[in-house]
Amino acid sequence: MRTHTCNQISRADVGNTVTLIGWVKSKRDQGAGLIFIDLRDREGVSQVVFKPENSKENSDIAETLRAEDVVQVTGTVEVRPEIDGQSTFNDDIATGEVELIVSDVTVVNRAEVLPFPLDKEVNNEDLRLKYRFLDLRRPAMARNLKLRHRITKTTRDVLDEDGFLEIETPILSKSTPEGARDFLVPSRLHPGNFYALPQAPQQYKQLLMCSGVEKYFQIAKCFRDEDLRADRQPEFTQIDIEASFVNQDDIMGLTEKLLGRVFKESIGADAPAKFERITYNDALNTYGSDKPDTRFGIHLNDLGDVFANSKFKVFSGALKAGGCIKAINAKGLCGASTGQIDKLTKAAIEAGAKGLAYIQARGTTPAEWRSPITKFLSEEELLAMQEKLNIEEGDLVLFGAGDWDTVCDVLGRVRLMCADYLNLLTGNTDLNFLWVTEFPLLHFDKEEGRWHAVHHPFTRPIPEDEAKLKAGEYEGLRAQAYDVVLNGYELGGGSIRIHETDLQDSMFTALGVTEEEKKSMFGHILDAFSFGAPPHGGLALGLDRVAMLVCGTDSIREVIAFPKNNRGTDLMSASPAEVDFKQLRELYVKSTFNKDDKKGLAKGQPVKA
Ligand code: ASP
Repeated sequence: MRTHTCNQISRADVGNTVTLIGWVKSKRDQGAGLIFIDLRDREGVSQVVFKPENSKENSDIAETLRAEDVVQVTGTVEVRPEIDGQSTFNDDIATGEVELIVSDVTVVNRAEVLPFPLDKEVNNEDLRLKYRFLDLRRPAMARNLKLRHRITKTTRDVLDEDGFLEIETPILSKSTPEGARDFLVPSRLHPGNFYALPQAPQQYKQLLMCSGVEKYFQIAKCFRDEDLRADRQPEFTQIDIEASFVNQDDIMGLTEKLLGRVFKESIGADAPAKFERITYNDALNTYGSDKPDTRFGIHLNDLGDVFANSKFKVFSGALKAGGCIKAINAKGLCGASTGQIDKLTKAAIEAGAKGLAYIQARGTTPAEWRSPITKFLSEEELLAMQEKLNIEEGDLVLFGAGDWDTVCDVLGRVRLMCADYLNLLTGNTDLNFLWVTEFPLLHFDKEEGRWHAVHHPFTRPIPEDEAKLKAGEYEGLRAQAYDVVLNGYELGGGSIRIHETDLQDSMFTALGVTEEEKKSMFGHILDAFSFGAPPHGGLALGLDRVAMLVCGTDSIREVIAFPKNNRGTDLMSASPAEVDFKQLRELYVKSTFNKDDKKGLAKGQPVKA
């Protein structure tokens, strides 16, 4: 149907007859049958010219063309002329020095008036998602799809070169209480029973190690029925990797190589051969986050020694209760507006703080500072703090006091907002890859009164802590787990796994899994570990997030062909949707949803089912 794509014609084709097919991007009607069309296909744009002296009939057809009609044109390539001594070259497109003088045109398919223009920014994302098939025609979206393809292609190449086998694992699998809520699929053949969609192929990939596969990967669809946040989707894709006879450094080295190649081959960016490493504890202590953005400073500083004997009860009380006092110095942000300080305070409160103490250093001496708390602090404390935080005129200092986890989290969030207010990252093109290591193995949930796995139940403790896990001493255990972070985004994570039945059994005990549940839910994996399981470990990278950073967008929806919106709905196909009663009956399923109840509860159904 074509001899060239719309980005291909050049001076080398001048005088040749070529055929193009594509969409009308725009039309400029100069009158008297002289009409210019920008014709677009996936690859680019060509200028197509209809001249009345060549064919009045063709010009008449061209006059009727509208944006997004599909047309096929044949003609001769010519260099764009000079008009009144001015060049008409268009440097913005690859074909900008030439144009196609049409001798033949076929209107292949006409387009209705579009719901939104394709060549302008559209702020109504729901409208874009409803007409996603049109939205994807936009060159920016086509670029994202191409880059995403490049990422998966490179992933396959790199892992294949290293001897990894791509193996699919079931989508209809089994519900296991690993973390998030499962999506369930009723089984028609086994009435009353349900499959679960995999949250990740974690157990299957470990079972493949027990099968002697040694090196596995999969571009795996994963499903988690979670409340949606800005960059979460109910279904997402992971680059899922597992290998036998490896240690942490092996998996990290492989990931560095993989991400390095992905960034190079997609956008030509150079990632460092080795990524910096930071322990989980240091990451929280210094940046207040387990996925720190290290492209800027504003470090968290500990002020415990300065306020050890303070008369200010908020500070001394926090220390006495076993907590900490930390502060950040946002240099140059003294002039923050009341609105900005209110927003920082709101964020701090949302993260668990009671408020957000601050100092606006409007001068060099404490007497010139504006602050709701300095009046409670002694001269000595103020000066010691000034020295420790290097407080200079123009600075904004923000404090956190309380338990360590909360203080780190609060100041970590406030730190990011300060960087935003200070425009510290505007125009920044750094790629700060980072490993966060030595995660805790377990986390105690005070509300539920039980231990949870920080990564997942198959994660191995560091060798020094194995005996403690077996002995039931759960406090402070560290995991052989690692996350890879880029510019404050967690790209993925993994761990070295437990491969022995007894250690895995101890882990389940720690998590409160009963003997009964161990057999019914994890019998297969405990069994597999008892027949000569190799030591193994792996990692999963969030493909959507990687693609988002490669493409330089700020939403994963921009890099997924058909995403759900932030309410989990596919607006284009209108799913989820009600189904026919007959379909449900075949599945032995009856909905208890009650349209008349505010929470949708059935009559008589307890609030907490
Ligand atoms: N399956 C894990 C996850 O989805 C990653 C891993 O440990 O390999 O987070």
